[in-house]
Amino acid sequence: MKVKLLRYTADPELLCGAAALTSSQSGHPSEMLEKMDLEKARKIVKRVTGYGHMSVIEHASFTFSLEDVSRAMTHQLVRHRIASYTQQSQRYVKYDALKSYVIPPSINANQEAKKLFNETLERISETYNKLLEMGIPKEDARYILPNAAKTNIVVTMNARELRHFFNLRCCTRSQWELREVATEMLRQAKKVAPSLFENAGPSCVELGYCPEGKMKPPECNIEEIKKRFKSL
Ligand SMILES: Cc1cc2nc3c(=O)[nH]c(=O)nc-3n(C[C@H](O)[C@H](O)[C@H](O)COP(=O)(O)OP(=O)(O)OC[C@H]3O[C@@H](n4cnc5c(N)ncnc54)[C@H](O)[C@@H]3O)c2cc1C
Repeated sequence: MKVKLLRYTADPELLCGAAALTSSQSGHPSEMLEKMDLEKARKIVKRVTGYGHMSVIEHASFTFSLEDVSRAMTHQLVRHRIASYTQQSQRYVKYDALKSYVIPPSINANQEAKKLFNETLERISETYNKLLEMGIPKEDARYILPNAAKTNIVVTMNARELRHFFNLRCCTRSQWELREVATEMLRQAKKVAPSLFENAGPSCVELGYCPEGKMKPPECNIEEIKKRFKSL
């Protein structure tokens, strides 16, 4: 699995700071942006988002490449609707079931489960290739492919949607692969725009309590989770 921040809005913090000032000052936003410095922008963003006015950080977008991830993971990712996606097509790209799959750690750590998993992938690969040889188009042969199939996807979200995505997907309750991807996305986004992602992470980091109620995993220690995400 590889996560790479490809591009993001130029000067994201300056831009969101100038946008935030626009609501309370009489000058032109273009002049506010010209006069804005990082220290001032960070203060303004912190203050305004602290009031809950999160729309000001929608002006900054971040585009990530998620590479060699599973179709099981991307199926969950694309449920997030305030985003743009472009994914490798199984209609056009031939799939190599013996090389391109993600093996979950629980299966990898269990010799018997791993053997069964690999044998099944071999059967799938054999059937997929046989279907293609029979003249079945890739778009139909792919119906035999597993959730473990590797894929590449490009995703763009604005900072507000990213924060919401991190609330849900950096959480211990989220599925392991998507949680790893989301946590790495947060680490990279925070590096280039710290004020937009201050206190970002699973819901408990922002709220100070777990909103999952009875579903809260017993192993969750909110103070430890907060510390971990603050130092990302
Ligand atoms: C731990 C976990 C378990 C899950 N289990 C399941 C499951 O078993 N089955 C399943 O189907 N899904 C499951 N999901 C997916 C979940 O139901 C959501 O579809 C997914 O997390 C996207 O969340 P969202 O709708 O808040 O986000 P986004 O689509 O990113 O939307 C962001 C926000 O915009 C607003 N919004 C967006 N679109 C609309 C709209 N049409 N109308 C009104 N407001 C809108 C909402 O406020 C929303 O929170 C699970 C998610 C998690 C984190």
